[in-house]
Amino acid sequence: QPRVFSGVQPTGNLHLGNYLGAIVNFVALQQSHDCIYCVVDMHAITVWQDPKELSRQIREVTAAFVAAGIDPVKHIVFNQSQVSAHAELAWIFNCVARIGWMNRMTQFKDKAGKDKENASLGLLAYPSLMAADILAYKATHVPVGEDQKQHLELTRDIAQKFNNDYAESIAEHGFGDAFFPLTEPLITGPATRIMSLRDGTKKMSKSDPSDYSRINLTDDAEAIATKIRKAKTDADALPGETDGLKGRPEADNLVGIYAALSGLSKQDVLNQFGGQQFSAFKPALADLAVEKLGPIGAEMRRLMADPGHIDQILANGALRADAIARPILDGVKDVVGFIRRK
Ligand code: ATP
Ligand code: MG
Repeated sequence: QPRVFSGVQPTGNLHLGNYLGAIVNFVALQQSHDCIYCVVDMHAITVWQDPKELSRQIREVTAAFVAAGIDPVKHIVFNQSQVSAHAELAWIFNCVARIGWMNRMTQFKDKAGKDKENASLGLLAYPSLMAADILAYKATHVPVGEDQKQHLELTRDIAQKFNNDYAESIAEHGFGDAFFPLTEPLITGPATRIMSLRDGTKKMSKSDPSDYSRINLTDDAEAIATKIRKAKTDADALPGETDGLKGRPEADNLVGIYAALSGLSKQDVLNQFGGQQFSAFKPALADLAVEKLGPIGAEMRRLMADPGHIDQILANGALRADAIARPILDGVKDVVGFIRRK
């Protein structure tokens, strides 16, 4: 049966991009699929994280999941490091994947910057752990933003190479002609790539040093209004047609955000605001963002007041995740030829 897996890193403030590009879809998929949503703390430490902040942020992402409408009883919510199958399978995938594959990943190039020799080895191997996250559950569908497309292609490459390299053993152990499924990315929904408010050519990111580059789920009404007012734009009025947004990345992004938050198409938004200046559009966008994000932020703050309850959600999810992943990992170990305690 179809199984959904996806993860969010506890690396900082959750923002509008994470919400519209990922979490909104996580919520919708609960109707049709068995869903596993993971706070990927092991991915987070591929770049330095202050330990106290990391614990707080793991709880904050969990709170955001629940506040946005993910049901941790019907579905599974947990943090990655509590289920050791992720790390164990990642090691095996490190030995299946090739260094050249990792070197080609744009996220590695972006995050490692100029001094690649000094990036953590984990940052290079990130996609291998991500493949393990997904395939430890034989997940068939993975909802993500546009920026994760390349990593999902690599997950398919790893699954395929494992299936090929071990084809004989897979058959001998009664797993048929493929052990892992070739996972489908789900890059859909209202907005698959929200851009920075300071630079329309860069995606909105938790790790962007400027807080003015993003709208956080926990921002209050005043912060949201200020950030939108200060958002970079050009000097022209809004166009009447979507064609007029070409070559205007900042305008395109703000119209896209309005469309995604309101459930309208970009053309609908331009029918309403075409010919008007940003000085008129921005306050309307700020009001809409406050209306949609305010209740989620408030619910997050309420949940964050009881960290013990959040930790319980994570522990319960981890137990149930482990029960799915453990037999799959045992199968992998048998296929590889490892000897394990029976
Ligand atoms: P970091 O800067 O630490 O990588 P991030 O903002 O990229 O943080 P992730 O935890 O890496 O967030 O990604 C969580 C999910 O949010 C992924 O599915 C990713 O594709 C999606 N996502 C991240 N940024 C955006 C964005 N700007 N627009 C749409 N989706 C996004
Ligand atoms: Mg990211």
